[in-house]
Amino acid sequence: MADDLKRRVEDLAGQLATWRRDLHKRPELGFEEHETAAFVAERLRAIALDVKTGVARTGVVGVLRAAKPARPPVLLRADMDALPIAEVSGRSYGSEMDGRMHACGHDGHMAMLLGAASVLASVRERLDRDVVFCFQPGEEGFGGAEAMIRAGVLSEHGVGEVYGLHLWSLFPVGTVQIRSGPAMAAQDEFVAVMVGKAGHGAMPHEARDPVIAAAQGLVALQSVVARSIDPMQPAVVSVGSLHAGTAANVIPDVATMHGTLRSFDERVRETLQRRVREVLEGTAAAAGCRLEFTLHPGYPAVVNDAEAVERVRRHASLVVGAANVVDPAPMAAAEDFAYFLQQAPGAFAFIGAGNVARGITAPHHAPSFDIDESALPIGTELLARIALGT
Ligand SMILES: [Zn+2]
Ligand SMILES: [Zn+2]
Repeated sequence: MADDLKRRVEDLAGQLATWRRDLHKRPELGFEEHETAAFVAERLRAIALDVKTGVARTGVVGVLRAAKPARPPVLLRADMDALPIAEVSGRSYGSEMDGRMHACGHDGHMAMLLGAASVLASVRERLDRDVVFCFQPGEEGFGGAEAMIRAGVLSEHGVGEVYGLHLWSLFPVGTVQIRSGPAMAAQDEFVAVMVGKAGHGAMPHEARDPVIAAAQGLVALQSVVARSIDPMQPAVVSVGSLHAGTAANVIPDVATMHGTLRSFDERVRETLQRRVREVLEGTAAAAGCRLEFTLHPGYPAVVNDAEAVERVRRHASLVVGAANVVDPAPMAAAEDFAYFLQQAPGAFAFIGAGNVARGITAPHHAPSFDIDESALPIGTELLARIALGT
């Protein structure tokens, strides 16, 4: 039966590459995936799934019904959006849209999920649960996953487990990489404006200097991770931008800093958000200034369920062999699949898609990004096995 599944996926390999290339030519940005959604919906309908379009604007959901469902449905997710990047490729299937590119591999994610839908539809009698195929819009900073959840993709179907894959060009093709627990970081940004009182550089006593407040605040922020966070927990506070003033002899009225916070644990995340603000408020007050603080919360951390990870490892070893199932280090990049994992147990795995010998080494979001398409059948087979539980 296992070999039968592998054969079914192998038969589909050419089709997977064609789908991926067709999608690669027509990249659309977050919540603008109209052509993409139509492409996906048409193919899901062709394999007789129940299909709903316009979910959270441009999302598509297909449901494959099990003949005799014995447990709650499983959700498999692909993201659909491309990036505002001008592609540098010279490939026959290069982007036809000016300044847009599938530079994160989401074209491949859609192809793999369509492939899994085809394969599973052909073995429907073996399914003991319904499968929800979730094609979500806007992963690249738009929080499309959260929008799909709000639109009811989990609650409507009573989803019991959630799984997602990401092709990864920095991992070699032929590997599947997955870790238990925190796998990708939560990412929040803040803007802190020290508001003082402008004045002459030679008469500081008549002014309230926001430059001093910002400088002391920046140094004081270094104590947040050192003194407020459990030393066994990773956390980052970085200020990447600090602007104030226009001349040597003028005290400005404001100083502005932009920073980023990274964490892997929700409690650590809350502590970072709270302490950064408190420390800056304190230094502002000490300098006679006032703080205007804005937090821009990003995606939460991707936290994989330990049992789900064990199951994925077992399935993955049937796909690529146990030696090629790898436990990677946590990644400081963020992924909105995190929202699904906050709602239901499941896991997010990386499918190696790089190939040094073939020169496929560019990182994600680079204008020369590419994947080794032999990764596509690997992801397809893994998704099918996850759904089947075999
Ligand atoms: Zn990306
Ligand atoms: Zn991505």
